[in-house]
Amino acid sequence: MQKDIEIKLSPADIENTSAILAALSAALHIDQKRILDHKVLKRSIDARSRLVIYRLQVRAVIDEQALPDIYSTNFPSVVNRPHVLVVGAGPAGLFAALQCILNGFRPIVLERGKDVKQRRRDLATINKEGLVNTESNYCYGEGGAGTYSDGKLYTRSNKRGDVNNVLETFVQHGAPADILIDARPHIGTNKLPQIITAIRETILNAGGEVRFDQKVTDLILESGKIKGVVVHDQEKILADSVILATGHSARDIYELLNRKQILVEAKPFALGVRIEHPQYIIDAAQYHCDIRSEHLPPANYSLVEQVDARGVFSFCMCPGGIIAPCATHSDEIVVNGWSPSKRNNPFANSGTVVQITLDDVVGTDPLRMMNFQADIERTAFQLGGGNLVAPAQRMVDFVQNRLSVDLPKNSYLPGTKSAMLQDTLPDFVFESLQRALPRFGKKMNGYYTNEAILVGVESRSSSPVRIPRNKDNFQHLQIAGLYPCAEGAGYAGGIVSAAIDGINCANAILKNQ
Ligand SMILES: Cc1cc2nc3c(=O)[nH]c(=O)nc-3n(C[C@H](O)[C@H](O)[C@H](O)COP(=O)(O)OP(=O)(O)OC[C@H]3O[C@@H](n4cnc5c(N)ncnc54)[C@H](O)[C@@H]3O)c2cc1C
Repeated sequence: MQKDIEIKLSPADIENTSAILAALSAALHIDQKRILDHKVLKRSIDARSRLVIYRLQVRAVIDEQALPDIYSTNFPSVVNRPHVLVVGAGPAGLFAALQCILNGFRPIVLERGKDVKQRRRDLATINKEGLVNTESNYCYGEGGAGTYSDGKLYTRSNKRGDVNNVLETFVQHGAPADILIDARPHIGTNKLPQIITAIRETILNAGGEVRFDQKVTDLILESGKIKGVVVHDQEKILADSVILATGHSARDIYELLNRKQILVEAKPFALGVRIEHPQYIIDAAQYHCDIRSEHLPPANYSLVEQVDARGVFSFCMCPGGIIAPCATHSDEIVVNGWSPSKRNNPFANSGTVVQITLDDVVGTDPLRMMNFQADIERTAFQLGGGNLVAPAQRMVDFVQNRLSVDLPKNSYLPGTKSAMLQDTLPDFVFESLQRALPRFGKKMNGYYTNEAILVGVESRSSSPVRIPRNKDNFQHLQIAGLYPCAEGAGYAGGIVSAAIDGINCANAILKNQ
């Protein structure tokens, strides 16, 4: 007999099997000896009261042995099978390629950047010298923006596809099994590259291809159908199905589509700053303590406010994290955040952004939101003074319109320069943040402090362009065989939802045969 039941544990007992069994026995009112196996299904921290506890959903196996867990999918050989082109090796492209294999197609993945190993050197140059390789950076290269990301796998995309399938595929490729049970699963930047490499090996072993330094510069079209792509303005690669999974930073792809009169649409997004606090401030607020217990992970938060009907919210919160320089060109500043698996850096950062609607940017140009975003990133670069030095301001100074006399120590490696962030943010974004931050401080003790730094600009929260597709067959509204996919097309935001959209596009190809 199996029974699912919730138990509560102290943080000190979370890895202690005897404590789990004792709690199960008490909750089920049965002798502990009858519980022959158990499996934790979900795990979350409950910090609502002063005594912080873990809540566990556990399956207890009573009077019988449990079946072993299997997280392994067999990827069959697709040598000599019809091929599908996948442009972009981000989470969407890689999961699309895996699903193509399961569906009997041979994926050929074309990626403009380098493999994870070579990419690491370009990231070091970005951080140490403030120089961006336009083809290999935090957004471009094997694994896309997902590789050197934080690897938080929390998503609300449950309705779009099988989240567990994505998590289990990550586990099959080396991610810790904890991600299957944690309420807020996280892999960490240090572990992601090996997982991405393992996914590439699965694709290659099945007979698929992953080609690097393959920047797609044109699409080959014939009578409203895709016939292939052009790489580096030279090589033609033919195919009847092309999954376009180029992410939200590939402005050249949006420009290409627009130039070729392939329908693209302006899309609302969100813009703001990355905010960093000393981690101990967040821990103290969330865990109601002076010093965090060694049994608890660094705390996170999620904050939201409406300011004059405009949403202001934190997102991509990285406890124990680092603020990352995520520009794709050398004349722009774009910040984001990551954290290692242990989340053991002394800072907590999160994007804090304001909703931008289509009405905020005048005109009818489908690329106007993208151009607006790019202008702000370039202004931030100028305000920082070059070499990816980012403009920054202390929190209370920002709200009270003062230049910060000095800046607190922070994690952004290319360096920060004291500046008035209102000089780079549009007025309505600046004013919305000014009003929201003290209100966030009322919700979370200690949040509103001059020990926190605001670093500009967090501009790539989601795509500023949509590449519209038919909701039934996933093909572009005008071009048969072209599958606009995931974040770059405006249909996903985050690693898991991008992976799900990749899977959905691959399944659509099978269905449309
Ligand atoms: C620092 C950082 C931290 C993040 N943290 C998290 C997190 O913790 N959790 C989370 O869910 N999300 C996080 N994200 C966001 C997440 O990484 C993205 O949502 C996700 O990677 C989108 O997947 P995608 O496959 O749609 O696009 P991308 O990952 O952007 O991949 C697109 C790929 O296409 C390639 N490409 C672009 N143009 C071309 C071309 N012309 N020819 C060939 N290839 C091309 C690019 O090089 C890139 O590899 C983070 C992002 C960053 C930058």
